[in-house]
Amino acid sequence: MPTFACPSCGGSLAYSGAAPTVVCQYCGSTVAVLAELRRPGLTLPAHETNRQAMRWLVIFLVLVVGVPTCLGLAGAFLSVAAAVLVPLLALFATFLASR
Ligand SMILES: [Zn+2]
Repeated sequence: MPTFACPSCGGSLAYSGAAPTVVCQYCGSTVAVLAELRRPGLTLPAHETNRQAMRWLVIFLVLVVGVPTCLGLAGAFLSVAAAVLVPLLALFATFLASR
């Protein structure tokens, strides 16, 4: 049976169930049980945890790398579009003015 120290009084708490909390028998405080101490079969399987970690890693990479890259690409695209459009507009303006 796994035991751990009560964070309030330091008493040794035995934990055998699957509930997320256990009540300390020494000081009566409700203590949140670490996920590692819960019964194996009731926690997520390792590959499921890995998949979730991968998902968060992908989200993290998209946020850290993808968003700035997209912003940079958008900025580059806008500057290229401006570089093309401004001379065309200037030509058009000269054409209108010379008529
Ligand atoms: Zn306690």
